[in-house]
Amino acid sequence: MTVTPRRTSGSTAMDDYLEQILHLIEAKGYARAVDISKNLHISQASVTNMLRRLDTEGLVIHEKYRGITLTEEGRRIASAIIERHETLTRFLRLFGIHEETIYHDVEGMEHHISRPTLNVIRAVADALEADPTLLEKIRKNSLQTRPILRSKNLPMA
Ligand code: ZN
Repeated sequence: MTVTPRRTSGSTAMDDYLEQILHLIEAKGYARAVDISKNLHISQASVTNMLRRLDTEGLVIHEKYRGITLTEEGRRIASAIIERHETLTRFLRLFGIHEETIYHDVEGMEHHISRPTLNVIRAVADALEADPTLLEKIRKNSLQTRPILRSKNLPMA
């Protein structure tokens, strides 16, 4: 029987936790609830609840005094999320968008983007990196203010 691996945990919040836990493990060798709480700006009580949920889902192992580790499935999902994050960041950086805006947009986009669309974005990023002239043209065009198109049938925003 073929089991289709889950692309994400199925929950934006759980994805954010898995992403954060893997970042912490890679940076510090371990993840603690207090660091997750600080990095995600979420109360420690909420973090504890979510860790319990992730444990129940088989995505993390949370031992009270030993910290948090990812199961194989948890690590696979976290890696996929981080890979999407990095691809989308690389793409948006090509256009000189402000880092804070990029981070904000990527955090929203990464949970919803499908594998085929991500592959297209990666291919476009590769092509633009290889074609500085085209990239420069796109950057210039995107900086121009465009006239706002109004239709009589649409209410004024
Ligand atoms: Zn992210």
